[in-house]
Amino acid sequence: MGRKTENTGFTCINCGAAVPPIQAGTIRNHCPCCLYSMHVDEDIGDRRSLCLGLMVPQSIEPHSSKGQQIQHKCKKCGFARKNKLAPDDDVNAVVQVIKKSVFGGEDHRDNRRTN
Ligand SMILES: [Zn+2]
Ligand SMILES: [Zn+2]
Repeated sequence: MGRKTENTGFTCINCGAAVPPIQAGTIRNHCPCCLYSMHVDEDIGDRRSLCLGLMVPQSIEPHSSKGQQIQHKCKKCGFARKNKLAPDDDVNAVVQVIKKSVFGGEDHRDNRRTN
């Protein structure tokens, strides 16, 4: 009681949402409101990366045993990784990511597409 654990929450650097601490057994590595993440890990959960770039959700991909996964890509260094969707992730944010991956949409400058 009264002792703070290492399971602290974080503030989303993309949308500013205050993300509550993770639950036991769950690694929360992205914002449930906008699904953005931060490049803090070399391997999941190790917090060893010095990049700290914004990890942008690119697409949602099904995984046979793990359920749906978010494909993230670091805006700063290009590092890409998949993260499991969490049960409390915002459904609308998920839909936005799917829409963007399917229809293109207004992406960032790095992916200029000419038709
Ligand atoms: Zn957010
Ligand atoms: Zn990075």
